[in-house]
Amino acid sequence: MSEPARRIATYEQDPYLTRLDVEVVFVGEIDGRPYAVLDDTLLYPEGGGQPADRGRLGAVAVLDVQQEQGEIRHFLEAPLEPGAAVLELDWPRRYDHMQQHTAQHLLSALALARFGWATRSFHLGPQTSDIELDAAALSDDQLTALEDAALAEIVAGRPITTRRVSPELYAKLDVRSRGLPAGHSGDVRLVEIQGIDLNTCGGTHLGTTGEIEAVKLLRAEKLRGGSRVHWVAGRRLRRRLAGHEARNAEMRRLFDSDDASLVEIAGLKLEQLDAGRRRIRQLEGRLAEARVDALATSDEPLVSAHFDDAEGGFLRQLGRALLERAPAKACLLTASGTKGSFFLVATGSESSLDAGRIGPRVAELLDGRGGGAGAVFQGKAGSLERRSEAEAWLRGELTNGKP
Ligand SMILES: [Zn+2]
Repeated sequence: MSEPARRIATYEQDPYLTRLDVEVVFVGEIDGRPYAVLDDTLLYPEGGGQPADRGRLGAVAVLDVQQEQGEIRHFLEAPLEPGAAVLELDWPRRYDHMQQHTAQHLLSALALARFGWATRSFHLGPQTSDIELDAAALSDDQLTALEDAALAEIVAGRPITTRRVSPELYAKLDVRSRGLPAGHSGDVRLVEIQGIDLNTCGGTHLGTTGEIEAVKLLRAEKLRGGSRVHWVAGRRLRRRLAGHEARNAEMRRLFDSDDASLVEIAGLKLEQLDAGRRRIRQLEGRLAEARVDALATSDEPLVSAHFDDAEGGFLRQLGRALLERAPAKACLLTASGTKGSFFLVATGSESSLDAGRIGPRVAELLDGRGGGAGAVFQGKAGSLERRSEAEAWLRGELTNGKP
């Protein structure tokens, strides 16, 4: 059996420690995932909206950390033997989490104290984080006011400390809290931002608000009568800005524009694209009419034609117009374009063939898939190599179908 951790885990006492000598006291496996329980740990197990840490245990990567059945399980890339080992923390990832998580404390505290908006939930995502606030709608000005308040406290560099208190003392303190989890017993862990906030939390926090560096509220959306506010803090903010800059540079190059005109020019290009598409449809219609004139007047009961640089929509237009003009005919139309190859089998109202019956065989010969309703069967063709075979088969069917 595994032993419970002997003392309060080191990550709680010193969130800045990145290396620790530990004893692997138990190893196990769940659903093919090996895990180890240690006498102490630096790695934060997922909880309270903060993702699990990663790191290395000896030579083996720690992929996940979960608190389950009273023990902290380190899920490993490969099984490990019990005994002494060195535990290392993936520090850049953890520090990022500490920045986002501490920013959340600050935002939640200020949102409540200055604006009266309680925090309902917190989520730390891989790109951005969000808090759900008890505020029906938030204007841009309100978001800016909250952001300004947070930035003033970041600049102030307020110390952040954690401590454990007895349930009796906890009851007497003025703690901003959503209440303790059901079944909680024993001491309560508190985190305090000096002069700003006192709250219960088991997570890892920065030493001062100054280490948050900066926070940017990105947007708010309405949700369940409240508002979800998305934001980034810390080094992520610079990384995000660098990403925006690189994208903007590429867009400036593509559109041959400066930043200020990018949106206008992109909108203009989209309008041009729409107009171009409309023009193509119009010309395809005219082309179809011209082709129909030629095809409908032939003596053949089967009209067979192939078009380069055309697609399924053109075949549909053509097939429909053709059979309106010549209802005794059937047609096999194929096309190859930038989106691949297409086929269409259609039968006129006076034709002896049934498109629903012959279509699947043509699709098979053309290594394609299709479907249809009534007199039309169409789809994408995998290959047109056996097109002439399909055409010959259709001619045969037409001959056989004659009384
Ligand atoms: Zn916390």
